[in-house]
Amino acid sequence: MSVDPTKPYDSENIFAKILRGEMPCNKVYEDDHALAFHDINPQAPVHILVIPKGEYVSWDDFSAKASDAEMAGYVRAIGHVAREQGLVVRGFRLLSNVGRNGGQEVPHLHVHLFGGGPLGPMLAQ
Ligand code: AMP
Repeated sequence: MSVDPTKPYDSENIFAKILRGEMPCNKVYEDDHALAFHDINPQAPVHILVIPKGEYVSWDDFSAKASDAEMAGYVRAIGHVAREQGLVVRGFRLLSNVGRNGGQEVPHLHVHLFGGGPLGPMLAQ
């Protein structure tokens, strides 16, 4: 079921539960603004999700409503995780799905961080 990015934030979504500690995750990094953990269904040798701690449905919601401090903290956390995981030298890919056309399934903003090997074409048809 795809996310409707125009709907209000649903605090019962799976990533909200992970942030509250109600669901486990395989954590790789956490700071005041962001949490990063391994995707449960990896699509690359390294597949990490980085989520902001604030309640934002999607990139659209975040870019419209987040404070400058939240934005800076989130972007820096994503960069930190990529460096810490050793992905920079060989390269990596960032992806954030928004809404139905984007194929977004979880209604809490997340960036997919892919790496660990050649990632192929940007979009599979
Ligand atoms: P998207 O389609 O962009 O919304 O991606 C959602 C991602 O969340 C998928 O890659 C799922 O494999 C991943 N996912 C769903 N539930 C969990 C979970 N409990 N822990 C880690 N990753 C999850």
